[in-house]
Amino acid sequence: MSVAPQKHIIIVGAGVIGLQTAITLLEAGSRVTVIAKHIPGDTSIEYCSPWAGAQWRSHAAPSDTRQQGWDIATYKHWVDLAKNDTDGTTGICIRENVLLYDDWSYGDLKGCPSGKYEDAGKGEGFWFRDEVKGFRAVTSPKKEGLQRLAFERTDGVQQDEIIAAAVTYETPFVNVPVYLAYLKARILEYDGRGRVVKIEDGLPFENGGLPKLVDSTLQIIEMGGLINDRSEVGAVVNATGLAARDIVGGREKEQMVSERGQVIVVKGVAEKGYTRIGTLSSDSDAGVKAGNTGEAYISYAIPRPGSGTTVLGGCKERGRWESEPEEETSRKILERCKLLCPELATNNGEFDVVTTQVGLRPIRFDGARVEDEVLKLPSGGEAVVVHAYGNGGAGFQNSVGVAREVLDLLRKHQL
Ligand SMILES: Cc1cc2nc3c(=O)[nH]c(=O)nc-3n(C[C@H](O)[C@H](O)[C@H](O)COP(=O)(O)OP(=O)(O)OC[C@H]3O[C@@H](n4cnc5c(N)ncnc54)[C@H](O)[C@@H]3O)c2cc1C
Repeated sequence: MSVAPQKHIIIVGAGVIGLQTAITLLEAGSRVTVIAKHIPGDTSIEYCSPWAGAQWRSHAAPSDTRQQGWDIATYKHWVDLAKNDTDGTTGICIRENVLLYDDWSYGDLKGCPSGKYEDAGKGEGFWFRDEVKGFRAVTSPKKEGLQRLAFERTDGVQQDEIIAAAVTYETPFVNVPVYLAYLKARILEYDGRGRVVKIEDGLPFENGGLPKLVDSTLQIIEMGGLINDRSEVGAVVNATGLAARDIVGGREKEQMVSERGQVIVVKGVAEKGYTRIGTLSSDSDAGVKAGNTGEAYISYAIPRPGSGTTVLGGCKERGRWESEPEEETSRKILERCKLLCPELATNNGEFDVVTTQVGLRPIRFDGARVEDEVLKLPSGGEAVVVHAYGNGGAGFQNSVGVAREVLDLLRKHQL
């Protein structure tokens, strides 16, 4: 008996969410067309994915089991990818990651029994400690070479008390441009079942929001000969990142905001990854201040596998949309990172900067939207739409789990 071919799924958006979703659907047997204004290789302030660090450091709260599931799915997938990658094609490597906390007030340390170094990691905040490899508290920052961080504080605190807590574990680090190119190449491997189409001006939507966008998507792929007839299309996946704020409109306008991030790529590969969750200093640090994430500032060094570089950050500025790097922010990032990875500084004590870049994280206050709906289209008829956007600063680490949830939602519609 012949099996009817599965319906064609159109994915709007070629960021990490759209690309990973395409691969997951192709693996499950679907025909998939990814259509987007920006695709791997492009750079634009409208395209967040190329600007990420990126590392796996889950942002899921202890009660947020849905996001935890997404993150763990991705962690396991990346560990497997790295294990089988003999020539660096995927851009993923596994290294030790050290998380450092200036004081005990941060969400991650929630529920840790006391203020002692050895108790860091024992609370509910580190819900992932048994899921990742090599998780442990750093009991002696001095012995582990972390004492250099003491020099930043000038408020008379004892040097030994500078880092209130630290944990370490093995985590995947992602060379983002290589990884995005790898995802695109995987889609094209499916013998014509998977396609990535770039549309220079983007898909129009302004006069009717999402229904108009879906209609114009169907029209364009029909006219381009990518499908014979729109009845072949089973669903459209909306993976448009921050643009969903305008495309979906309505309540999403209030729900979504940009969170500006600035990073500096420098020469040399840090031996480990470091992330320091810092206390705000007295000058209020406007340029490096975090949003309402409960973190006063964040400073990190992310080794970029296979590139001979490290990504230094960071900055989380909610509600800012400026695309140009800012000098004062760069100065603070470099100054703080000298404490994290001084081994990368050159003879004159400064980093060898390759480039400075800015990206806008697609924040959604209620958390990422992964949800289906049936839309009435302006041209008549209906379309199943599955939304997958609003992953904020966690789109890479959410991606595999989100993609699997999109597949489950499509299955609900027999697709
Ligand atoms: C500095 C920085 C550091 C980060 N570090 C990490 C990290 O360590 N770990 C982590 O997990 N995440 C990290 N992130 C977050 C991560 O980069 C984002 O969550 C992720 O890139 C969002 O992906 P996306 O696919 O949703 O959106 P995007 O990458 O923005 O993709 C959106 C897609 O939609 C398309 N599109 C939009 N509108 C239209 C239209 N009208 N017509 C056609 N196409 C359209 C765009 O062209 C694009 O292809 C970081 C982000 C920044 C900025």
